[in-house]
Amino acid sequence: MEIAKKKTIIGFIGLGVMGHSMAGHLLEAGFALHVYNRTASKADDLVKKGAVLEARVADLAQKSDVIISIVGFPGDVEQVYLGSLGVLENAKPGSIAIDMTTSDPALAIDLYDKGRQKKIHVLDAPVSGGDLGAKNASLSIMVGGDKKIFDKALPVLEIMGKNIVYQGGAGAGQHTKMANQIAIAAGMVAMCEALAYASRAGLDPETVLGSIGQGAAGSWSLNNLGPRIIQKNDKPGFFIKHFIKDMKIAAASSKRLGLETPGLDLALSLYRKMAEKGLENDGTQALYKLFE
Ligand code: NAP
Repeated sequence: MEIAKKKTIIGFIGLGVMGHSMAGHLLEAGFALHVYNRTASKADDLVKKGAVLEARVADLAQKSDVIISIVGFPGDVEQVYLGSLGVLENAKPGSIAIDMTTSDPALAIDLYDKGRQKKIHVLDAPVSGGDLGAKNASLSIMVGGDKKIFDKALPVLEIMGKNIVYQGGAGAGQHTKMANQIAIAAGMVAMCEALAYASRAGLDPETVLGSIGQGAAGSWSLNNLGPRIIQKNDKPGFFIKHFIKDMKIAAASSKRLGLETPGLDLALSLYRKMAEKGLENDGTQALYKLFE
């Protein structure tokens, strides 16, 4: 199958904070786009722009050449892909299914194996770059699966992201995303501590950010989420509940690999405190509340 605008039908599942922007870019690029979302109304504006709304995952899968999903948790990925109404039972042989949810590497391998039995090519392709990266089509996309299929899918991925890297066989994309989340986890704690310190020392946090965001401490989190912390804007962005899900997957995977991750464990324990306070639907930057 060759991927070409107009000819290739893309089916997009999951129109949340990330998926809605990503699907919009594919539509603007000229692909025929079929969409499915559990809450159908989230597709309204995309339908006005020409997308076709499908009532069931099965209908979308039957009609699409390339299927892209970005839902919430591994359990949601299982629901979308497995079972008689799922992607794998209904997609055409030869189609490509790309799961961009941050999910479990073991599940990615399972979907790849099950897809193979049906001649459906499955890639795991989680993303980094946040809501802004999705909006600006500048996501970093880390991909696992067959290299030949990655090469075929690349023109589609390039519409949603800027840094698209093949990481290896099935599950390698999700393992890379776990490394990404481990790096971010301790960094979130460090950022909140640094801004709390600046404020306690009587400094203007915005002026401080102007210095430390541009020096050796600079990071995506500091420069994009630091301003939200200063403005006390807790809106997601990236949900705390999803970050906890990622850290739990990363911690379990590290344990299986015999790796100790004290930084990750600390971050996970602090975010669990946030969830206990009922704040799991805040953005991850809301961690600053623990330091106030
Ligand atoms: P979100 O806003 O909650 O979007 C998830 C979407 O998936 C929603 O549209 C939801 O439908 C749909 N969905 C969930 N479970 C489903 C199921 N079982 N069946 C069908 N549809 C289902 O979350 P998001 O922020 O876009 O994040 C999506 C994924 O990307 C997560 O795995 C997250 O960890 C990852 N991620 C997020 C960011 C970020 O900054 N936001 C960055 C990188 C990666 P409803 O509309 O009905 O709820």
